[in-house]
Amino acid sequence: MTGKTHFVLGANAAWAAYLIVPKDMWFLLLPLIGGIAALLPDLDNRHATVHQWTKGLLRLLLIDRVRHRSLFHSLIIIPLVMLGSALLLPIHVTAPLIFTLGYMSHPFIDGFNPQGCEFLYPSKKNYMFLPRFLCVDTGGWVDSGLFGLGILFFAVYFAVFFELINVSLVLS
Ligand SMILES: [Zn+2]
Repeated sequence: MTGKTHFVLGANAAWAAYLIVPKDMWFLLLPLIGGIAALLPDLDNRHATVHQWTKGLLRLLLIDRVRHRSLFHSLIIIPLVMLGSALLLPIHVTAPLIFTLGYMSHPFIDGFNPQGCEFLYPSKKNYMFLPRFLCVDTGGWVDSGLFGLGILFFAVYFAVFFELINVSLVLS
């Protein structure tokens, strides 16, 4: 999927905060943490949004030499992401969880790409969640649909924050 789709869907990881703690001003920042985390797996793709944002500076780290949709899209990176996310604890008690969820949303969504992901890296086998003929290419209508849905839920997130709507289930 495109970077903007990953970002918006990752931003929705912030919803988890409503389930854990009473809301505070940091809830306005949490979607940004989830969204940025959701862009990170594509550090291995030099054409990805995350590289464009940094004007190629990230290439100096040479991590784009890692095979695309391998290590950064695999299960073995998740414990490292969780560990690293602990650094965000001083920002907000839910920040590590939202960072991790945002990150994980990326390989999950990529699992619907016809190319699949090397979820069991270092095994080079590509896995996808659907038969290949049902999988969707980056930039297709499903990509746009997911982006739209992400924006919609994102809007509801802020509507709940500003109490424009009252979702008693999550705010109870
Ligand atoms: Zn990806």
